[in-house]
Amino acid sequence: MIQDIGKTFDNTYRIEDPREEDTVFLFDKGTTALKYDAEGNAVFPKRRELPKDLRAQYLFRIGGELFYRASVTSEIPQGYKWASVRGLRHIAPLYRNFALMTAYQLDSWYRENKYCGRCAAKMRPGLKERSMVCPECGNTVYPKISPAVIIGCVKNDEIIVSRYRGRAYTNYALLAGFVEIGETFEDTVRREVMEEVGLKVKNIRYYASQPWPIDSDFLMGFYCEPDGDSEIRRIDEEELSEALWIKADDLPYREDPVSLTSDMMNHFKELKEDVLK
Ligand SMILES: [Zn+2]
Repeated sequence: MIQDIGKTFDNTYRIEDPREEDTVFLFDKGTTALKYDAEGNAVFPKRRELPKDLRAQYLFRIGGELFYRASVTSEIPQGYKWASVRGLRHIAPLYRNFALMTAYQLDSWYRENKYCGRCAAKMRPGLKERSMVCPECGNTVYPKISPAVIIGCVKNDEIIVSRYRGRAYTNYALLAGFVEIGETFEDTVRREVMEEVGLKVKNIRYYASQPWPIDSDFLMGFYCEPDGDSEIRRIDEEELSEALWIKADDLPYREDPVSLTSDMMNHFKELKEDVLK
């Protein structure tokens, strides 16, 4: 999954200036500056390639590499091009994909919290922790993380898959949805399956979790099974264009190293109803 990068991710908050060799992500309107090396690996600007007066903000480190962000400059270093961050989820190596997505999450959050939501004064980065602090009223804001569930609803060797309505992404997905106020994750699983395909569920089993930084989400994967009737008689037509039971053997294997949905589909394809044990 996206976080399985084979290196240590250290998000300890620090205030420090970049060294010449450190990576500085540049973001502008959903795009980032990058280029590819001869092996096809994604390369992001180094501090030494950027204007001397550019101010960069420390984000995190992965293994021995330090990552920063900076406000967009009028020109980007030679050889780099702007590319949509959303289109880059399969860049190699995996840890740079994770670094880019996580940096983008933080960049979006910093941009969206320039002003205090309580008194409208200009916010400042916290001194001791990753936060934005209002110097006027003391309001402190932390990075936004939205919890959501991914649901593998299974019955013997079948699982419910769906397709989202009106999205470019047309592969099968699993049922999913955001945790709402006052809910546990299990409540969300029960509500979402009822809303999306009209079924009651039981035997809700936690499988795995993952950050999904590009949307500031945090995903928790659960398997469950229908409680009683398992026939899909209606679907949530605002969200889904289709939802159906599909046999594990008919489920295409997903060559996708980043998403929890793909991981859960592959896991089910292998274990079938044993995912509930
Ligand atoms: Zn304030």
